[in-house]
Amino acid sequence: MKVAYQDKRKIYDRTTGYCHICRKKLSFGNYGLIGQKGAWEIEHSNPKSLGGSDRFHNLYASCISCNRRKNNKSTLSVRREHGLSRAPLSNIKRKEVKKVNSIAGAIIGGVVGSVMGPWGAIVCSSIGAKMGYDRNPDIY
Ligand SMILES: [Zn+2]
Repeated sequence: MKVAYQDKRKIYDRTTGYCHICRKKLSFGNYGLIGQKGAWEIEHSNPKSLGGSDRFHNLYASCISCNRRKNNKSTLSVRREHGLSRAPLSNIKRKEVKKVNSIAGAIIGGVVGSVMGPWGAIVCSSIGAKMGYDRNPDIY
């Protein structure tokens, strides 16, 4: 499939460059290059053979092997083989989740730390915020 650079970019960024099936990191420059590290293709979530469209909402970045192995199976069934149910988040979504996680971490840390007095609350709150921020936003 011949794809314009902007379309590839948009589809790649949609999952922050992770395979939407197994979450392996893909290499943008290795599009369609079988055997290369992070080689990827555009995958039709709803297979073309089953009437899936070429429109953006149906297209995801995927490892070449994941794409070929998926064949006509549904996206949900192949993601489940990897214990996953959702596509990786886009960068924008990722930042939102990280913000929420760090606020939640700060609150939890503050409550836990308050048993050690005000300094405990401050120290634990910042530790909590950092832990929340560092948490993988794809696990929720
Ligand atoms: Zn994959």
